[in-house]
Amino acid sequence: GLQTGIVGLPNVGKSTLFNALCDTGEAEAGNFPFCTIDPNMGKAKVPDDRLDKLASLANSEKVINEMIEYVDIAGLVRGASKGEGLGNQFLGNIRNTDAIVHVIRCFDDENVTHVDGSVDPVRDIETISLELVFADADQCEKRLKKVEREVVGQVKGAKEEKEALQKVLKVLEEGKPARAAKLSEKEELALQDLSLLSMKPVIYAANVSEEELAAGNEYVKAVQDFAKETGDQVVVVSAQVEAELKSLDAEEVQDYLESLGVKESGCGSLVQATYRTLGLRTYFTCGPKETRAWTIHAGWKAPKAAGVIHTDFEKGFIKAATVSYDDFVECGSEEAAKDKGKLRIEGKEYEVQEADVMHFRFN
Ligand code: GDP
Repeated sequence: GLQTGIVGLPNVGKSTLFNALCDTGEAEAGNFPFCTIDPNMGKAKVPDDRLDKLASLANSEKVINEMIEYVDIAGLVRGASKGEGLGNQFLGNIRNTDAIVHVIRCFDDENVTHVDGSVDPVRDIETISLELVFADADQCEKRLKKVEREVVGQVKGAKEEKEALQKVLKVLEEGKPARAAKLSEKEELALQDLSLLSMKPVIYAANVSEEELAAGNEYVKAVQDFAKETGDQVVVVSAQVEAELKSLDAEEVQDYLESLGVKESGCGSLVQATYRTLGLRTYFTCGPKETRAWTIHAGWKAPKAAGVIHTDFEKGFIKAATVSYDDFVECGSEEAAKDKGKLRIEGKEYEVQEADVMHFRFN
């Protein structure tokens, strides 16, 4: 599955947020730096109103959301790329992820130590982001030496890789992330195996206190201004609120959120933002037993999409009765959609679209 790494300086609320996000998280939140050492993995439900709507139309017994895997990557500090505080090990954990949630401390609390002695979101972003840039620059330089020999030996693709590396190194040397290099698709492919840390898409999670969740504060504004420049997403969350929400039932959650002046919990927005950033597509299956969301990549054809449910569905694929989500909702059921001519029978070459409601026939 696809993984998202949660990174940030010590004591900014990573573990608290991870535990609130994930069903199986057991990372320990503690008020001292370096509390969490091993990466913790967990899965979070992706909230989806469309899924609930379909389930209510079909009167489904069960609703099954998509899940995203999160990894809590603790211990990134200034100097991590030079091996400070087990830095390299932590950086290695990020290498395997597909996207990054960067938690930024945007709350004042004199009882919670800040590693750099004060709350300063943009400084914190730059501290972490520079460590990723340094680690990438090291890697690119090493690789470039090898590729230069390959160019001499006329190895296929070496010249292209060399040019892509030089392009990225130029950006890294300016202290900017590799994703700022604006590579062509071909160049990106040439560097794919390097899994550069600063090439991964980033979502900034601005962690605020309970009182400031609705209105935000100047720290959040600073993060938003910074992210506007780089084109990255910002989600405002309160890790503490999220942690409390976990122990409440649905009605209490609603009351609590209302008392804070917000409609939704930031966690839901964060998971949705992650999901979008990963560039995934959703299709649905819908029936009285269960309504379920399935994750595929853009461009997948019907048999491959069916294979996400079961390998037999892919091997024995015959056809797929397909209705768009909007048509399904408008008609109210697969049967009604069929009567109104909105049900399509799609074959092996059909590229599954976002929010298709599908019913597979297979051998
Ligand atoms: P990590 O080191 O980044 O994983 O941070 P933790 O999640 O362990 O949190 C460090 C400390 O900050 C803990 O004592 C948390 O209770 C506290 N903390 C986390 N989020 C918030 C918040 O939104 N407001 C306040 N006041 N404290 C928080």
